[in-house]
Amino acid sequence: MNLLDRTPIRPLPDPLINQIAAGEVVERPASAVKELLENCLDAGADRIEIDLEQGGVSLIRVRDNGWGIPSEELPVALARHATSKIGSLQDLESVASLGFRGEALPSIASVSRLTLTSCAAEDAGGWRLVSDANGGAPAAQPAPHPVGTTVEVRDLFYNVPARRKFLRTERTELGHVEDVVRRLALSRFDLNVSMRHNGRAMLDMRAAPDQRARELRLAKACGQAFVDHCLHVDHEAAGFRIQGWIGLPTFSRSQTDMQYFFVNGRMVRDRLVAHAVRQGYQDVLYHGRHPAFVLYLELDPALVDVNVHPAKYEVRFRNGRLVHDFLYRTIHEVLSHTRPADEAPTPAPQVQLRANVGPRMPGPANPVEQTSMSLSVQEQLEAYGKLYPARQSGLPASERQGAYPGALPDAAPADQGPPLGHAIAQLHGIYILSQNARGLILVDMHAAHERITYEGLKAGLDASGIRTQPLLVPVSLAVSAKEVQLTETHADLLSELGLELTVAGPERITVRRVPNLLAESNVEQLVRDVLSDLATHGSSDRVRVAINDVLSTMACHGSVRANRRLNLPEMDALLRQMERTERSDQCNHGRPTWIEMKLDDLDRLFLRGR
Ligand code: ADP
Ligand code: MG
Repeated sequence: MNLLDRTPIRPLPDPLINQIAAGEVVERPASAVKELLENCLDAGADRIEIDLEQGGVSLIRVRDNGWGIPSEELPVALARHATSKIGSLQDLESVASLGFRGEALPSIASVSRLTLTSCAAEDAGGWRLVSDANGGAPAAQPAPHPVGTTVEVRDLFYNVPARRKFLRTERTELGHVEDVVRRLALSRFDLNVSMRHNGRAMLDMRAAPDQRARELRLAKACGQAFVDHCLHVDHEAAGFRIQGWIGLPTFSRSQTDMQYFFVNGRMVRDRLVAHAVRQGYQDVLYHGRHPAFVLYLELDPALVDVNVHPAKYEVRFRNGRLVHDFLYRTIHEVLSHTRPADEAPTPAPQVQLRANVGPRMPGPANPVEQTSMSLSVQEQLEAYGKLYPARQSGLPASERQGAYPGALPDAAPADQGPPLGHAIAQLHGIYILSQNARGLILVDMHAAHERITYEGLKAGLDASGIRTQPLLVPVSLAVSAKEVQLTETHADLLSELGLELTVAGPERITVRRVPNLLAESNVEQLVRDVLSDLATHGSSDRVRVAINDVLSTMACHGSVRANRRLNLPEMDALLRQMERTERSDQCNHGRPTWIEMKLDDLDRLFLRGR
């Protein structure tokens, strides 16, 4: 438009205002579904049925058993900025409901043909309102409906061709809706959710009352592999509680697609959170890999501002630094327990043994048919163990000092021997073969030793603090005025990290001192990255990461190389060290250091026990 064509300032007509709002909140069918589902939850529903046609483009119908909308309020529900959820600024500051802007229904109604049918407990029978995209206010008609609400959205974007053009294939749009429903299912385990597409049942989830049912739902949303390779998190401190599941470092992904984070039940994608979790996984993850997690953070709603994004995907924590620290420390701590243990809930990297043995027989074998020949090795050991408990460790009695059949009749069940068992042989100069109570173990010698050395170097550094040295030639850096200011405000933190920076001008700083271990590295890049971390997160783990990188390289060079012959006592010593070393389930690059084959697995391979 030419400036000379200036038109007078006019208020926008209502339908247009709603369509503009719809531009922010309703991008595609999935975003409409998200808004409708959040309304169900806010109305106290625990049963939700979703019906879709053509990926949600021609129909989205969401029906719930919440408390409904009284008939006289139906037209208000469709009015712009009308909500039952907040009434004052004070309410807004500690909002506990998912919605509060009063924009979703009028926005969706402005770009589709929307019908709202509802019955509140105090009304007899239900009432229906058909919206008029032009902002008219038609009267509600009686329509039968149980207590609860059904919102029907037909022909999304029928009146906004520009938007319609951005819609993808039915398959893609449906996929986005499925993502939304998956997140909903993970956000509230007490919900019953079902979904149909083009008349076909797609999904049917029942409320998950206990841990087992929850893990089943988790498996539906993230796959069984995640459930088999995750650690449970539950930690509470300083008014925060974090719960959920985090993937083992060896179960990493090439993308950030399996990362679910809920703040007080609301799914968010937050940079601070992502950074804290990443940092928790520091140095147990292969480069360029991403952790998988499903985590729930609970905190006082007054400590988090949810009013920063129209679709509320982002939040702002009142004390971001504290939240970051809490998350980082919790995850770091949980991951430090990834080492061989007796009863690890998820015993590290499990091998999938797929022998070519046909379908597995369901249920336990019929005892009548079971002859002694068909006993599995496991069963034989158990039977034998009842007679001679000392052998339950699975070790030949002769190898157990002071143990002979019948010597320890009571202590036997508890004494399973060390988790990684005892070394038997070295294979191809690379692997240690060992036998424990459950079966056999293979250890990647080099990878294991590398982790042990690395953790040792880190522990040494923690004990003695970061040593620093002055740069022979101080490095002068041109930076922004803001970065100069950061250098001053964070001087203490920087010196804790072993960095001494001085201000040399309004837009210039000088690096004078760095950690010993980093003297040879690219100091300029490091300092720039640290400053940018400080600007975005108020903290920085760059120095630690850089130092750890150096230690990791040192550990790699200091580790036993392939083809070094080790004798049995040396191998056993390595196994015992692994059991004592934090994070020893994976090497510094995130590869597994050991695998276990249980007797069951071996039995299956050899068709025993059937
Ligand atoms: P918001 O959720 O931000 O309040 P919406 O436009 O999504 O705004 O909904 C407007 C109002 O309509 C809500 O505040 C609520 O009172 C009512 N409402 C919408 N959906 C439902 C539902 N499924 N059950 C009960 N009430 C609902
Ligand atoms: Mg809403």
